[in-house]
Amino acid sequence: MFDVVALGEVLIDFTPQGVSERGNPLFERNPGGAPANVLACLAKLGKETAFIGKVGRDQFGTFLKQTLEENGIHTGGLVFDGQVNTTLAFVHLQPDGDRSFSFYRNPGADMNLHPEEVDFDLVRNTRIFHFGSLSLTGEPVRFTTFEALKVARDAGVLVSYDPNLREPLWESLDLAKEMIGKGMAYADVVKISEEELTFLTGLEDLEEGSKALMASFGNIRLLLVTLGPKGSYYRTADLSGEVPGFMVKAVDTTGAGDSFLGGILHGLLERDLDLDSMGEQDFLNLLLFANAGASIVTTRYGAIAVMPTMEEIQARL
Ligand code: ATP
Repeated sequence: MFDVVALGEVLIDFTPQGVSERGNPLFERNPGGAPANVLACLAKLGKETAFIGKVGRDQFGTFLKQTLEENGIHTGGLVFDGQVNTTLAFVHLQPDGDRSFSFYRNPGADMNLHPEEVDFDLVRNTRIFHFGSLSLTGEPVRFTTFEALKVARDAGVLVSYDPNLREPLWESLDLAKEMIGKGMAYADVVKISEEELTFLTGLEDLEEGSKALMASFGNIRLLLVTLGPKGSYYRTADLSGEVPGFMVKAVDTTGAGDSFLGGILHGLLERDLDLDSMGEQDFLNLLLFANAGASIVTTRYGAIAVMPTMEEIQARL
């Protein structure tokens, strides 16, 4: 039995790393992809994790498989595509560490995952199943993701979801809203950013937006909203609250949201996924722990390889 199984993309983030002698920008090959990042965080904290997804039969794909294994993530569910290359993303950093992406994924191997390539027993034999919305942007991986969600739901597995809106990857924003919403209908735990909350609800106010999202999707038991350096916010059916972020010198926020969610899922596993027994202080402690881990990630370049250890998080707390 795994603690967390995730389905989705594992890819290369090329992160800016200074300039060459001739003044040309240099990019570092960093392994990433949101669902894989979440697993890397959990594995670093001692949880049993497994990844389901696809890479190209190329040097990047081999490197990614090796990276997942080096980080203690089970790769029995990772398949190779002989026709389509591994997905690449170039990260563009702003001076405050915030970033945007250019994706080389037209298509990329992660999108080409067919249901017959998935071992659905992995989805049944886990305490938490996690997914994102990059695997909802196109077929066949969209169909495969919904198949996995039905299996998870039928098996009574807790479902975690990070919509992670990447606008350039969608044919239209209407389709993005429709598909992200379809995914939302399966989720028990949802992590979104403030901007994504506004995109989905049309509301700028955190209280109003989070209430509206919970009202639209009665299945959501815990909604988490990340607020960048300001920290994070949560809402359940009865409770809500906010925990400020840690003051750090951020250089690259890639993977911060994923580390945050990894920290949250770790806390829920430690509490035997008994969300109903959790009170206000339990949720605030959960967010504090997740903010601490995420703040550490923002001070480092990359994602998978730089997830914090328990000792580092405790020291920050
Ligand atoms: P992603 O799009 O990668 O999923 P996100 O938008 O959900 O990320 P952010 O809000 O940028 O993620 O960050 C997640 C968490 O990381 C925040 O809730 C906060 O705890 C921490 N964090 C982010 N940026 C900073 C920062 N500059 N200083 C301190 N903590 C930060």
